[in-house]
Amino acid sequence: MLNYKKSLGQNFLIDQNIIKKITSITQINNKDIVEIGPGSGNLSQNIIKCKPKKLILIEKDNGLVEILKKKFINHNNVTIINKDLLELDLKKIVKKGSIVFGNLPYNISSQILIKFLRQDSWPPLYSKLIFMFQKEVGDKIIANSKEKDYGRLSIITKFKLNVNKCFDVSNNCFFPRPKINSTVLLFQPKKKLSHKIKNLKNLEKITQIFFSKKRKMINKPLDIIFNKNKVVISKLNLNLLLRPSEISENSYYKITQLFEKIVERK
Ligand code: SAH
Repeated sequence: MLNYKKSLGQNFLIDQNIIKKITSITQINNKDIVEIGPGSGNLSQNIIKCKPKKLILIEKDNGLVEILKKKFINHNNVTIINKDLLELDLKKIVKKGSIVFGNLPYNISSQILIKFLRQDSWPPLYSKLIFMFQKEVGDKIIANSKEKDYGRLSIITKFKLNVNKCFDVSNNCFFPRPKINSTVLLFQPKKKLSHKIKNLKNLEKITQIFFSKKRKMINKPLDIIFNKNKVVISKLNLNLLLRPSEISENSYYKITQLFEKIVERK
């Protein structure tokens, strides 16, 4: 039986039906594919059956990399990279049009998604991301304003990506079995962004200020961001009595845009 490391978020997908369902979300034949955290290669094996042009596997765990090397020794279109995804330069690995799969390590799943969003040039080289998250995180990513789970993750993600929920996956489909269910999401880069935001970190910072005090009215965070400059704040045309979860994603993009303009002028 395989040893597994909780610290690396290792929950291996063992249900063949779910594995097939994931690889049939999009056409793989003759495409460049990247897989993050392939583990012992359950999903990878099925990707290979769908005849990709190339498959790049990125796995941090040395022990698992040895297993993968043995398993795929006869496949010369498979490359295994034994590195931490968070420390890699994506531009050097992801070719134009690539599809990226990942049953993501849950402890760093949002960080991985954010890494794919922070790419400077847009649209990015990848054409699709097909990621599995723990269901709670998936719910946060797809939430709309006024919904319970709406917050930073949905606002930041939807700025750059179109998001579709594919399906939920029961915790019974994994070994070891996690406590919670999972969700598979499909992301496709927006060709054109609705607002000019120079640095995504500013959107991250602005939403952090609002959502660290979720229950307070938005006049407070706006005062902090714009130094109580009422003239500037009035340009946003927002009802200042609303709460952070009650204003749209677009409002956050507008606030960030205005913030960048003002900071630049200083
Ligand atoms: N895809 C496999 C395993 C998923 S578990 C399956 O579905 O069966 C998550 C995997 O991500 C594990 O193999 C873990 O070792 C790997 N991993 C964890 N942190 C990582 C990181 N920072 N970079 C790359 N891989 C990582």
